[in-house]
Amino acid sequence: MSHRDRPSRSRPASETVRRQIIAELETRTMTARDLSQTLRVAEKEILGHLEHASKSVRPPKRLIIEPAVCHRCRFTFHDRRKFTRPSRCPQCRHEGISPPAFRIETD
Ligand SMILES: [Zn+2]
Repeated sequence: MSHRDRPSRSRPASETVRRQIIAELETRTMTARDLSQTLRVAEKEILGHLEHASKSVRPPKRLIIEPAVCHRCRFTFHDRRKFTRPSRCPQCRHEGISPPAFRIETD
């Protein structure tokens, strides 16, 4: 058993994770779940990093949030500034909501 994975490999420093998130979002649009699966970091942790990234990304770069949308009535959560998926549509009470997606654009 000389080739066991070292536990520390599964917990990269949060600074590294943050950099990886920003690098991913500069190339494509992703949801918190996409990021969680790609980077193998808990979704909850991703959300914390996104919040931090939204404050640390500076012009000419900016974090774009594509709002969550209700699958039934297409209600769009434009005013929502949170990074989590809303649980229920305020208009039709439907619970099928697509999560918000994120990307970083450079002006
Ligand atoms: Zn709805």
